[in-house]
Amino acid sequence: MIESLIDACLGLSRLDVLVSGKIVDVYSGNVFDGFVGVKDGLVAYVGRKPKPANKTMNFPSKYVLPAYIDGHIHIESSLMTPSMFARAVIPHGTCCVIADPHEIANVMGLDGIRFMIEDAERTPLKFYFMIPSSVPSTNLETSGAEISLKEIEILKKFKQILGLGEVMNYKGVINKDRSILDKIKMCREMIIDGHAPGLRGDELCMYVSAGIGSDHEVASFDEAKEKLMLGMWVMIREGSTAKAISSLINVVSKGCPERVMLVTDDRHAGDILHEGHLDYCLRRAVEEGLDPIDAVRMVTIKPAEYFGLKNLGGLSPGKSADIVIVDDLKEFRAEAVFINGKLVAENGRYLGAEAKAKK
Ligand SMILES: [Zn+2]
Repeated sequence: MIESLIDACLGLSRLDVLVSGKIVDVYSGNVFDGFVGVKDGLVAYVGRKPKPANKTMNFPSKYVLPAYIDGHIHIESSLMTPSMFARAVIPHGTCCVIADPHEIANVMGLDGIRFMIEDAERTPLKFYFMIPSSVPSTNLETSGAEISLKEIEILKKFKQILGLGEVMNYKGVINKDRSILDKIKMCREMIIDGHAPGLRGDELCMYVSAGIGSDHEVASFDEAKEKLMLGMWVMIREGSTAKAISSLINVVSKGCPERVMLVTDDRHAGDILHEGHLDYCLRRAVEEGLDPIDAVRMVTIKPAEYFGLKNLGGLSPGKSADIVIVDDLKEFRAEAVFINGKLVAENGRYLGAEAKAKK
């Protein structure tokens, strides 16, 4: 694999695809007229000169970006299955989502999560999942199923599982409640997402000390600053229900973009159809005055860094060729979307192939 990338870069073999346009470099924040070369589904070349390729696609006045990653979403809120959700969001430039299947888990438990993982495998969209930490969310609830230590042990073995989903029982953490602390300990070496609206001061320190690394429930500038100061990542969500960009965008524009990302949390089918997915978040962030390259970083390299997805998030040789071509950095209308170097959407139309459902 490395050899074939090196050969293609040397010009000894032809690239599969060469894309030209205004290349957006999310690492240093530059935009330049250049080329991205794809070989075997990976980026093989990024530079200012063309290279021999089997197929050349020129987008002279358009922008070439890494495709987008949604760091926190509940697919069930879209009322679609993962494979249908993929068809809806790929044409908007999304290549990857990190989903917390706690809604289906509350009804069907492990079987429901297994269904989500299997159905997700049928599409080109990259799906990762967090293990629901709070099913049921309190002991006052009568849920259809429970995700206990036994289920967590099983789920940890799936390659699509990145860690423990939003720990909403923050009172339990602070009060050293065994049931939640045991789950956290079991996922200690993985990512642990938070959910702690308004938690501040000593209680926040206790919560962070459990290894909880992010929060998407932050509501104010001061709360965001305090959480960032303690080393957490802040997920600014702009979905169908909660909308936090207008109140939190200052966190980024005032010089603290390093550990902040844009996520949707919940996105209804009609809103995806009419307004979009992460392209809508980008549009909203830029409308609120955020630098467009900073906004793009918050849906590409930032979630890739936080979740340790080494091969995603930027146009860099060796990484997955997940690319979106947009008309401008204001509306972010996606003209073409590539996942693993394959054209999967064009002008809003989904072109991806799907595997058949398992019986
Ligand atoms: Zn959530």
